[in-house]
Amino acid sequence: MQARIESIETILVDVPTIRPHRLSVVTMNRQTLVLVRIRCADGFSGLGEATTIGGLSYGEESPESIKVNIDTYMAPQLLGGDATGIALLMAKLRDTVQGNRFAKCAIETALYDAQSRRLGIPLSSLFGGRVRDAVPVAWTLASGDTARDIAEAEKMLDLRRHNIFKLKIGARSVREDVAHVAAIKRAVGERASVRVDINKAWSETDAMFGVPGLKDAGCDLVEQPISDDNNAGTQRLTQRALLPIMADESLHGPVDAFQLAASHAADVFAIKIAQSGGLVGAAQVAAIGRAAGIDLYGGTMLEGGVGTMASAQLFSTFDELAWGTELFGPLLLTEELLSAPLDYRDFELHLPATPGLGVLLDEEKLAYMRRDRSTLTVFAVG
Ligand SMILES: [Mg+2]
Repeated sequence: MQARIESIETILVDVPTIRPHRLSVVTMNRQTLVLVRIRCADGFSGLGEATTIGGLSYGEESPESIKVNIDTYMAPQLLGGDATGIALLMAKLRDTVQGNRFAKCAIETALYDAQSRRLGIPLSSLFGGRVRDAVPVAWTLASGDTARDIAEAEKMLDLRRHNIFKLKIGARSVREDVAHVAAIKRAVGERASVRVDINKAWSETDAMFGVPGLKDAGCDLVEQPISDDNNAGTQRLTQRALLPIMADESLHGPVDAFQLAASHAADVFAIKIAQSGGLVGAAQVAAIGRAAGIDLYGGTMLEGGVGTMASAQLFSTFDELAWGTELFGPLLLTEELLSAPLDYRDFELHLPATPGLGVLLDEEKLAYMRRDRSTLTVFAVG
């Protein structure tokens, strides 16, 4: 077998963020990337990446669990397999490993990267090809300070890097948060779209007061206002139709997408390749959303360059992307791990035309930054 999987390497890399990133659930001062590299006997290799937000603060996988579960349970099943049979390999993993969507996404991404390099085509071509060569990118204002957020927004507008701002709220009182959003919208006016992400922090009654306040403040979109355990509540909020409601934490792949669509408990889906268990799952979420008349938005788990480009490759194939994306992860990090940084300009992320993901790692930087600088973990066929 020419494309036999020879090795699967998992690497943890800790990268400081450019500023504290405050969410209702956690304040992040660094991001940990789990990079996955799959090498094949025909000389081709592929990269994948998984990240979490604040360790276990946001979901049930941590960078460390992703690494140990790939190394211990997933890699041994895949080694020696035909790397071109991606669906078969992923079915094998789904049969024997429950959950672990982020880990599965990193592996699936690496397999698709390798396969599209092998075929000499961009990864997006394996998902039907692009309908756009660049995707709009929102910036998240999450310093926790209104004046600092306004200054940051002005800087982004001046640089022509972002004109969509997502505000992380929910840690303070609803009244304070609405005032914070109103002040930022007043400052940027019609030059930018202002949206909020509450990361589940509100009760349904908070939302009854908060959503009308946000509408009056000029906010355009409300992301995951209440608990993902309360989809009936989110359905009621959606039906009040004060502002579009976006599902994020409540959306873990196609089954959730179908349930949310069936009850129309969202106006917009925040699609994340990691939450969907991979690129194929994310494409299925998009199809369900489109069939139900739900708008699409390209979400992020604050991935570095590899995971961000994997997301962009898929999102570039969506025929509709009404709310753009938030693929700004690499811009939040102080260190660049790619040999050439991603191309952000004119409010968009521009995709490369080169085969695969179209990104390469800076191997020297990686060797210096990896957590286990002295002990390599490579699982290889014996
Ligand atoms: Mg969110």
